[in-house]
Amino acid sequence: MHAWYTKRGLSCTFLFNSYFHRERFPTEQEAIEWTWARSEAEIDAVRFVLSRFFELRDGVYMQDRIEEEVGRWNALGWRPHDPRNPPKRPPIDVWKQTRERIFSRDDYTCTYCGKRGGELECDHIHPVAKGGTHEDSNLVTACKPCSRDKGTKTVSEWRAA
Ligand SMILES: [Zn+2]
Repeated sequence: MHAWYTKRGLSCTFLFNSYFHRERFPTEQEAIEWTWARSEAEIDAVRFVLSRFFELRDGVYMQDRIEEEVGRWNALGWRPHDPRNPPKRPPIDVWKQTRERIFSRDDYTCTYCGKRGGELECDHIHPVAKGGTHEDSNLVTACKPCSRDKGTKTVSEWRAA
């Protein structure tokens, strides 16, 4: 079992990220697929997050805050960037602040294996090389071994490897 499901907060973070990236709301089955839940306990954690933080309407789990935010992004013409023309890496001082904010949000715990503390990196869930952005919603705390092992793969490619 992957450690992020032991922390419902992290499984919640993953679910929120999936919503933003896909810009639509999932059925329960889709939420389970989007968060790569496999075991009974992982699936339970996803169901818990859905029932606690989302509202079931017409078979899909919705949330007003996300709907508003995605609507705002659309109004601004926000789109994931073109992978052939990646965004510039943020200036070093901005990136340092970003890292600290993400580490603190994730309680200095690796999102992928659940290890707390040690040498941490700020990982792009969806790799920059494949169209991911430097937005907080695309960043998570990862220990050095997980971050290096994941490399430029997406999480599903990494899990399939
Ligand atoms: Zn790790």
